[in-house]
Amino acid sequence: MKIYHPQTPLEAVMLRKENAATAVYLAGGTDDLRLGGAAEGKDLIDINHLGMDKIEIKGEKLCIGSRCTLQEIAESELVPAFIREAARFCSSFARRNAATIGGNLGLRRDDSYLAAALTAADAVLLRMTPHGENEKKIGEYLQSSCKALIMAVVIDKNRTGRVKRFGNTAASHAAVIAAESEGIYALSVHGSGLAYGDSPSIAETLTYTDDITGSAEYKKYLAKIAFS
Ligand SMILES: Cc1cc2nc3c(=O)[nH]c(=O)nc-3n(C[C@H](O)[C@H](O)[C@H](O)COP(=O)(O)OP(=O)(O)OC[C@H]3O[C@@H](n4cnc5c(N)ncnc54)[C@H](O)[C@@H]3O)c2cc1C
Repeated sequence: MKIYHPQTPLEAVMLRKENAATAVYLAGGTDDLRLGGAAEGKDLIDINHLGMDKIEIKGEKLCIGSRCTLQEIAESELVPAFIREAARFCSSFARRNAATIGGNLGLRRDDSYLAAALTAADAVLLRMTPHGENEKKIGEYLQSSCKALIMAVVIDKNRTGRVKRFGNTAASHAAVIAAESEGIYALSVHGSGLAYGDSPSIAETLTYTDDITGSAEYKKYLAKIAFS
């Protein structure tokens, strides 16, 4: 296994482009360094000395650096309450203290702690691409296979919303996570992925499957009542 130590975000993204099939970014390492994780056997592009680790207000926006941990987000009074609540869906303190917001979004898990809340918050990702910095709406990023480096997650600083998690226990995989913020609805459903839109009827757009988190009928029911 090779570990690269790029000096700039652009260098990191170019390394990822050149080694698309064999390398991933290394942030908190909670997935990359795990046996059986998505990165097993892959080379690592260490992004841990590239900054991107601050939570700060810029005008009307809140910028969360991609290397901020779930614990830092949960503790920050700058972060809207429903996003902090979503960060706490990670019930293990050890993992919350290491796992980053960039890593959580980069994995594109269908039981992501943060994806539904940030999508409902209409978050924009500030990314480094091989062509320079640009912005992408989070929902589009999560439904793509884009390998750009997330540098920061940007939301309105006074955003309000709500988020709910349905799972057998706090530590097991969520069956459904539902969030609503200022008229945007988002659903992460295990086995089905992410849906979002401007009405609760997004629940109708997903195809539900039986799996360890519950039956297809059960998850469909949860998705339908989640916003009521
Ligand atoms: C036992 C266990 C249970 C878990 N259960 C859940 C769960 O229920 N829900 C959930 O959401 N997560 C779950 N996770 C995953 C955990 O939350 C993630 O491992 C974590 O969020 C990833 O963050 P990290 O910083 O450790 O990423 P890393 O492990 O360092 O990286 C993970 C991936 O993210 C990509 N990445 C990292 N940083 C960036 C970036 N800035 N831009 C673009 N891509 C990037 C990398 O390419 C890499 O492939 C679980 C993990 C474990 C070990």
